[in-house]
Amino acid sequence: MERTFAMIKPDAVRKNVIGEILAMMTQAGFKILGVKMIRITKEQASAFYAVHKERPFYGELVDFMSSGPSVVIALEKDNAVADYRTLIGATDPAEAAEGTIRKRFASSKGENAAHGSDSVENGKIETAFFFSEAEIAANAR
Ligand code: UDP
Ligand code: MG
Repeated sequence: MERTFAMIKPDAVRKNVIGEILAMMTQAGFKILGVKMIRITKEQASAFYAVHKERPFYGELVDFMSSGPSVVIALEKDNAVADYRTLIGATDPAEAAEGTIRKRFASSKGENAAHGSDSVENGKIETAFFFSEAEIAANAR
């Protein structure tokens, strides 16, 4: 079994589609090991997306990610990282495949409804950002 880290971003929470997105995850075979709604601070968003700090969209991304509540989720499945990236679809919803989370719910390349880790290693780092070992261990069985 592999794990990955997911977020339902503030635009999708505002659209009131948390339930639809969680259902897409479970229907695709993911087990939810952890889920909570939190208001990400500017400091957390800056650190979480630090890899993009030289990119022109970084400031806007940090503002967006701290603009309202998000849902942070720890997922488990065989091939979880790649399969969840497939489920969310391309970063730009104009390029996202039919039936993906971003095709259904993203508004733009920036406000794109969902996050998914891009590697197993980053999945561990990103999960640890928002969940303690104990929280995940209590739900993994
Ligand atoms: N982003 C943006 N403009 C861009 C590229 C990315 O606003 O031109 C935002 C978008 O919210 C994206 C996030 O920055 O999800 C991280 O970018 P990345 O290229 O890692 O895309 P992802 O891995 O989320 O598909
Ligand atoms: Mg990325």
